[in-house]
Amino acid sequence: MITASPSARLSRPDWREAWRAAITDPVQLLDLVGLPELASRLPADNAGFALRVPRGFAARMRRGDPRDPLLLQVLPQLAELDVVEGFVRDAVGDMDAKTAHGILHKYDGRALLIASGSCAINCRYCFRRHFPYGDEIAAAGQWRDALEHVRNDSSINELILSGGDPLALTTRKLAELTDGLKNVPHVTRLRIHSRLPVVLPERIDDELIDWLASLPLQKVLVLHVNHAREFDASVDDACRRLRDAGVTLLNQAVLLAGINDDVTAQADLAERGFAAGVLPYYLHQLDKVAGAAHFEVPDERATELMIELRNALPGYLVPRLVREVAGEPSKRPVASRAR
Ligand SMILES: *Cc1c(COP(=O)(O)O)cnc(C)c1O
Ligand code: SF4
Repeated sequence: MITASPSARLSRPDWREAWRAAITDPVQLLDLVGLPELASRLPADNAGFALRVPRGFAARMRRGDPRDPLLLQVLPQLAELDVVEGFVRDAVGDMDAKTAHGILHKYDGRALLIASGSCAINCRYCFRRHFPYGDEIAAAGQWRDALEHVRNDSSINELILSGGDPLALTTRKLAELTDGLKNVPHVTRLRIHSRLPVVLPERIDDELIDWLASLPLQKVLVLHVNHAREFDASVDDACRRLRDAGVTLLNQAVLLAGINDDVTAQADLAERGFAAGVLPYYLHQLDKVAGAAHFEVPDERATELMIELRNALPGYLVPRLVREVAGEPSKRPVASRAR
């Protein structure tokens, strides 16, 4: 007979092992997806940003397809070496200044912690390619500076963990933070921005779920999925476990040329996410980061796409198209130009 005791739980592979087993050699990745001939078109030195992709994510790529939307997110390309006007190393404003102590508090009610500098995957379009934050930035010294800031400002009701990927931290480290929030009654929500439930679903283990379920806070997890095919049964399972622990799931995507810049790809992403219990939140216009210009979708086309998407989907499955602009009090909506 099967009983519901904790010991009867499925044993899952340790996520740190899965993390360490990630593919870091582009030639090996190309062999794995049946495209060895592309090895001659790799940029020298990976264009200055290492390839990194967990094996489970690579397994979702279509064999023999050089346009695979998952492959294109991680494979170093010669186009990254192009110097394109307007695409700069520091695309979001002075990153160094912004990340002093790892606390960004520029929006009302919400404080954002750069909780970890690590990611399980290296996304080619990410500003992180030029700013590999050190590890455990806000987490340093038992989160001392972060907790002090949050404690002393009763206008903060939501604490946002971002990075890098905050779930790169151990659950024990995360619990240190929430233990420190116990006597901070004005913080009622914890939001986590993470790509791990999708790229390394092993991370959503019993320990993490138990921690989340135990928190006397409202919990939001913002996933980062750009294409419907990033979902598979292991991701569905991770999402279900998170929802069962009382976590509201949202998704943010980046609009990427050749990957998800048509109405079918965006509608499929919204529908597939919702099937896993995830609601669309933001669709980001690319940060203008050097090396990512080939992913850019012009605002004109992006706003057209949003109109097509509103016609194709129920309103609650349509994300908000936004761009991050340094010094603004919120994300800026990208609106169609009046004609
Ligand atoms: C994006 C962002 C937030 C969260 O903004 P929402 O619109 O609530 O998602 C908070 N703080 C900083 C610094 C941000 O960049
Ligand atoms: S911060 Fe997000 S988008 Fe950037 S490399 Fe890490 S997982 Fe990818």
